Amino acid sequence: MTDENDELFEQTANALSHYNLNAGSNAGRATSKRHFRGNNHSSSVTTISAEEEIVDERLRNIDPKMIEMIKNEIMDTSPSLTWDDIAGLDHAKKTIQEAVTWPMLRPDIFTGLRGPPKGLLLFGPPGTGKTLIGKCIASTSGATFFSISSSSLTSKWIGDGEKMVRALFAVARCHQPAVVFVDEIDSLLTQRTDGEVEASRRIKTEFLIQFDGVGTTAEEDRILIVGMLHIIQTLINWLKQYLLDEIRPQEIDEAARRRFRKRLYIPLPERIGRHGIIENLLRKQHHDLSAEEIEQICDMTEGYSGSDMDGLCREAALGPIRSIASADIATIAAEDVRPINFQDFKAALSQVRASVSDKDLELYLKFNSEYGSLS
Ligand code: ADP
Repeated sequence: MTDENDELFEQTANALSHYNLNAGSNAGRATSKRHFRGNNHSSSVTTISAEEEIVDERLRNIDPKMIEMIKNEIMDTSPSLTWDDIAGLDHAKKTIQEAVTWPMLRPDIFTGLRGPPKGLLLFGPPGTGKTLIGKCIASTSGATFFSISSSSLTSKWIGDGEKMVRALFAVARCHQPAVVFVDEIDSLLTQRTDGEVEASRRIKTEFLIQFDGVGTTAEEDRILIVGMLHIIQTLINWLKQYLLDEIRPQEIDEAARRRFRKRLYIPLPERIGRHGIIENLLRKQHHDLSAEEIEQICDMTEGYSGSDMDGLCREAALGPIRSIASADIATIAAEDVRPINFQDFKAALSQVRASVSDKDLELYLKFNSEYGSLS
């Protein structure tokens, strides 16, 4: 973090101990009354041909070029994931299955009090599996996955962000059930301010209209919005605004709470999670690490995120390659490349460090205790 951020961090931590982000918590705990409810329990992805889409009522006023762009860049067609691909995180996985995946699969059973939330908020340190979870929800519930970051709405599609939001939800409605994953959702949930650029105000307004509209149309949309929150920067920004008295944090808090009934903290992987990640990554590799050595690596990687573990294993995997003389690299037979060993991991550990600082972690935990869902 920069010095300025460091300073703000201190202020944040101090202010948090005085100021309870939970202000207005009763109102915040109120659950949304609207849910998306499907009329049948088909779990298959709705396949719609290009021709059908042209005549689809829901796409009538949408620019065909945008529809194309959404299909190419935002709709995710990468291979599907299973929960086993995500190591550790047992609590989050169980909660999500019960609250989100099963209702998406069986909307006929999960009605009324059992109705699913429209939004799921995932927060925590970077590289801990939040995006993987979003994808996995879509894969395991037979839903189409759309992934967008709010900064791309303001930067990549300058001037068209608002239309993109409308188009995205229209296409998602045509591909129900759908999971719309929004990275950096914090910037879409903050209150609109006077000083803000007009285009970004309009994007926020459109997003909230679409969000609040999910589940209210005649077809009873089966769209889940999964938001990812970068809380360190968010907290700093919120506090900054609070200190400057521009915005009251509880107003933002309330907007987010109302829309995201489930707010889940996705922590750094525990030992068992780190073990699972190493095992998964080494499964298809030629290595000679003993079970004991893998245990030692788990001991030495306390505080590593999932993506740090991924980086560590990739770095270690280069060890055998580095031990080949460069003159031989073009001709060496694949079976002559030596296995990855414990020494490679030791060397990699000095290159790949934990990316999340203790200071940041403290803030995440504090945020979770004030803001996370209890169950
Ligand atoms: P973020 O929390 O920032 O969305 P991602 O889900 O994009 O993180 O994870 C980044 C990468 O880190 C993944 O592609 C994967 O390689 C690895 N990773 C992170 N968490 C896990 C996990 N729990 N299990 C397996 N791999 C993980």
